[in-house]
Amino acid sequence: MTTTTQDAYSQLVALGREAGLLKSMEGLLGWDQETTMPPGGAEYRATQLALLARLAHERLSSDEMGELISAAESSIDIEADTVEAANVRAWRRDHDRAVKLPSSLVEEQAATASAAQHEWAEARKDSDFRRFLPWLEKTVELTRRQAECYGWAEDGEPWDALAEDYEPGCTAAGVAEVFGPLRDRLKSLLDELMGASVRPSGRLDELELPQDQQMAFVRDVAGNLGFDFTRGRLDRSTHPFCGGSHCDDVRMTTRFHSGMIIDALGSTMHEAGHGLYEQGIPFEHIGTPCGSSVSLGIHESQSRMWENQVGRSRSFWEWCTPRLAGHFGDVVSEIDVEAAYQCANRVAPGFIRVEADEATYNMHIMIRFELERDLMTGNLQPADLPGAWNEKYRDYLGLEVPDDRRGCLQDIHWSMGAIGYFPTYTLGNLYCAQFFDAACEQIPGLVDGFAEGRFSPLLDWLRENIHRHGRRYTAAQLCERVTGRPLSADPLMNYLEGKLRPVHGL
Ligand code: ZN
Repeated sequence: MTTTTQDAYSQLVALGREAGLLKSMEGLLGWDQETTMPPGGAEYRATQLALLARLAHERLSSDEMGELISAAESSIDIEADTVEAANVRAWRRDHDRAVKLPSSLVEEQAATASAAQHEWAEARKDSDFRRFLPWLEKTVELTRRQAECYGWAEDGEPWDALAEDYEPGCTAAGVAEVFGPLRDRLKSLLDELMGASVRPSGRLDELELPQDQQMAFVRDVAGNLGFDFTRGRLDRSTHPFCGGSHCDDVRMTTRFHSGMIIDALGSTMHEAGHGLYEQGIPFEHIGTPCGSSVSLGIHESQSRMWENQVGRSRSFWEWCTPRLAGHFGDVVSEIDVEAAYQCANRVAPGFIRVEADEATYNMHIMIRFELERDLMTGNLQPADLPGAWNEKYRDYLGLEVPDDRRGCLQDIHWSMGAIGYFPTYTLGNLYCAQFFDAACEQIPGLVDGFAEGRFSPLLDWLRENIHRHGRRYTAAQLCERVTGRPLSADPLMNYLEGKLRPVHGL
């Protein structure tokens, strides 16, 4: 390299930002595909997205990128706690992973994922696992090859290599260590709740409410939480998500049914939590690692906090119940704070993950984690998945799965090749509870303030402690910095037991 050291870093930022720009365009096209694109656009859209993905991958894995990273590494203290050092460390990691994957495999995986998702959707409709099986087999084979390209630690396993894409630093053994005690405490809490004589009221969810009024209501709530509608949008899609381009253009979606307002509100508050995180990332870092989120688990900790710790608290409903009346009028006149609070906190084991309550949700995740781990080591063959799935639902939730549509065909993830993803949902719940405990310790009267609509102290705290850092710290470092402790299952379980027992009269 003939460049000076500062030049190397500036050039690295310029090249890295191009990859970031390409990714931001992928984000916009992806949002458009789920919200406004006519079905006829699907085929060409796949081509557009594939090109953007390839261009971003080429920039990231290029020799030029590698040389600029090396030059930057030799010019700064790479272990320093600075934005520059954090960016270079993250780019080094991303570059090294990108070059390990041959582009032929990347292309084959993209093509397989596209076809497999289509077959999965058809198979799910008809509850026809045999139809999906060849695609699952192919996906498992390709993801195992992908894991082999990445490699894993001597005492690790293939799953670790894949999880690294979603939750850097996360290993199957580490997850199992956290999930073990969580499972035991959850199981006994569920036994208690299911044996309780009190069934919380579900009346609010039974009321039929016009969907345009529901949209106005959830927008009102999201705005009050602090979501900035001059830098973001809320639209509708079949499966709610949060995407978009960057901190000043955040696109989130929600869904409505005629009843089930708690689902529409919970989905919106969840996605608003993701959106608030994105809006809290400083513009100056956009396109660099410090301008993106830490991990999916940390992202999920933000969505869950607004959805659950805020949105299912009694204080929140003290504020929200009169608002409900303001939006829907006499239809909701019979709903008081207690009825709304109970409705938001009902617990009942069910087959479907995305409809699960706060307590049973994590059981759905543990089941998927154990199964995908075994698929990767070869202890479970794809053909045996339905049997293994159903056995775990019997064991974990005491349910007899009636068909594969409500069983192993319900989630899109494995058809996309996203193996190693599921645990980030439960890790998000764990981080969330631990962060929220720290927030409560540091902000006097935090929860009581929700009753008066004071949500900004929490948002300010999250901005200061989490959002503004982007990827500067790893998830484990961030957890230690914010809470002073490594991740533990205790805060989540204390929270769930403390809230759900009284709701069920215990
Ligand atoms: Zn989420």
